[in-house]
Amino acid sequence: MAYEYDDQNIFAKILRGEIPNDTVLETEHSLAFRDIQPQAPVHVLVIPKGPYVCYDHFALEASEAEIVDYTRAVGEVCKMAGVQPGNGGNGFRLIANAGADGVQEVPHLHVHILGGRGLGRMLQ
Ligand code: 5GP
Repeated sequence: MAYEYDDQNIFAKILRGEIPNDTVLETEHSLAFRDIQPQAPVHVLVIPKGPYVCYDHFALEASEAEIVDYTRAVGEVCKMAGVQPGNGGNGFRLIANAGADGVQEVPHLHVHILGGRGLGRMLQ
């Protein structure tokens, strides 16, 4: 199935510089910025710069360079935020919502990095 990317979504506007953001890290293919409504002391969103709707879209259609850059950017933000378990931090959670059942609000792939407090058990 081909995804249709809506370039009017809010993260596309952030990437074009039309809306300000609190950038944590920018790389060749990725941008990380603080969530506007943080759910934890650390709540950073990491997005690819390319027009990918959700995780599977990106994983199946992005170039290897984009995938490596994005994967590393997520790791780098965890390091910068000091949440790496056993490496000065206490751990974190990654969330990538997709589509209606996943309750994805913004149709541009983003991984939430949450940490800085006990997050509780999500899956029973
Ligand atoms: P989703 O439900 O799509 O996984 O999460 C979207 C996230 O984007 C939410 O946590 C929401 O607070 C965040 N968000 C929505 N609009 C903006 C914005 O304009 N700037 C930033 N930094 N975050 C936003």
